[in-house]
Amino acid sequence: MTESVRTAKRRVGVGRTPIEVDSEPAEPVRPVPIAGLALGTSLDEPGQLGGPAARPGSVVEALRRQAIRGQTIRRSGTETTMDLSEDEEELSEEELEPWEGTVDEAGDDIVKWLRKNAGKATNYTVAVCSGHIYLTKVNGVTPAAKLMGQLREHIQDNGIDQVCNIYLCQKYNTSQPSNHAEMCVVAAIGAANIGNITFFECTAASCDYCGAFLAHYDVPNTSPANDPASQAGWTHPFQSLFWGTQLGGHKAQVDELKAYLDHGTAPRIGRVIGTAPAGRYVLWL
Ligand SMILES: [Zn+2]
Repeated sequence: MTESVRTAKRRVGVGRTPIEVDSEPAEPVRPVPIAGLALGTSLDEPGQLGGPAARPGSVVEALRRQAIRGQTIRRSGTETTMDLSEDEEELSEEELEPWEGTVDEAGDDIVKWLRKNAGKATNYTVAVCSGHIYLTKVNGVTPAAKLMGQLREHIQDNGIDQVCNIYLCQKYNTSQPSNHAEMCVVAAIGAANIGNITFFECTAASCDYCGAFLAHYDVPNTSPANDPASQAGWTHPFQSLFWGTQLGGHKAQVDELKAYLDHGTAPRIGRVIGTAPAGRYVLWL
């Protein structure tokens, strides 16, 4: 990570606290929904997996948050006589504690947080690839999604965003309903980089299709081993292929997927679909 990026991230850390200590329900000025829009312009640019080309986005984000912080201070300025420069120095010391563990351990921490706070209804996936964190839920997640504001606070409070980039992954096949969380992450990381995944875990068990896919690519999937929920369908993250309950029996289809992955056996039950998959993600933090 370049020094300029580190500096930008520190600015984010310093600038964040005034928003948090503002006792008003400050939802309208929270940066979360705007962040996705601001960074979304880089979505379809090729060749930025792992994020070097996305780095300027974090600077934009930092500058924008500074502007928001200015608004917050001005608004609360009528109620306090605090010396802003002194306050900022104190905050700097308090906020500049980076995450002390590895990025893989940070990924594990985020999985645990999601498991505790997201409940069992939604499966989330967190992965670390080439030192950066990718996360999502089924059919993708945006900065504006429920829970992401709380998760952002958890990540920033623990300094995780100071040691790596954190990307949110979206649907990879917009023509299909079954964009499983695991495959949204894999599609965002891409076939060329799938071997660089060092951590991969879901809040719940992976389905049989995802399990077969991740095993084929030797992804170190440490998701829980309890019975996975049955899935209505599964869409390949790299190719225009779909399997689903309306097409045939579950086990026969999973076996067919395994044969396709391992031996290139042409699918007989699985269907070729018109829309090609394309991994999508935004730099979040
Ligand atoms: Zn799955």
